[in-house]
Amino acid sequence: MAYKFVDNYREKGARKRLVEVLKKKGIEDEQVLAAIGKVPRHYFFDETFWNQSYKDIAFPIGEGQTISQPYTVAYQTELLHIKKGDKVLEIGTGCGYQTCVLLELGAKVYTIERQEKLYERTIQVLPYMGYKPEFFLGDGSKGIAKHQPYDKIIVTAGAPFVPDILLQQLSIGGILVIPVGDEQTQKMVTVLKVAENDYEKIVLDTFRFVPLVGDRAW
Ligand code: SAM
Repeated sequence: MAYKFVDNYREKGARKRLVEVLKKKGIEDEQVLAAIGKVPRHYFFDETFWNQSYKDIAFPIGEGQTISQPYTVAYQTELLHIKKGDKVLEIGTGCGYQTCVLLELGAKVYTIERQEKLYERTIQVLPYMGYKPEFFLGDGSKGIAKHQPYDKIIVTAGAPFVPDILLQQLSIGGILVIPVGDEQTQKMVTVLKVAENDYEKIVLDTFRFVPLVGDRAW
């Protein structure tokens, strides 16, 4: 994390242009677009790669992981229909960019990462940027039972199936957004918990995520 924390007209302008790109690609939720327009994505990049930070691309963040493509972050966030005060579990903190977007929307975020180096970096950087989720280190494929139920659960790594245990940790009316497929490509899946043991599942577009690795995963 070497970039100096400066957010001036150059960065703000690049963010505005990114928001326009996302609109053109089909993101419609004005609140989601506004949140993307606020989070300084360049803070997650080494200064050498500043010119990559507002492109609509995923980018390596170390430990074999990536910062998600802004379009993917916006797409998943839109599907969550975040309301102010929603209790959200995010599985796969990574560098924390998605976490910041959720916090900008007024969610209370519980975020879990399995890789210690990423976790250690994020618990320092996000509070420094003014973002304060609850951080956890461990296997998020089992959810975090201690803090259930959640209004929304977002999985930011590709899973081989929808883990039942995550559905159990949703509140009634809650939404799970999770990419499901093989290790190459996944379909975005949303599951609405209509009632206890009653779920409505929708399968959407194809994406390519790093794998969800854990007890209820790969
Ligand atoms: N949310 C991030 C962002 O805003 O750019 C991107 C996350 S990256 C695509 C996926 C992350 O999920 C990686 O950091 C990976 O280590 C993590 N991960 C994979 N399996 C996990 C698990 N079982 N529990 C928690 N994190 C996991």
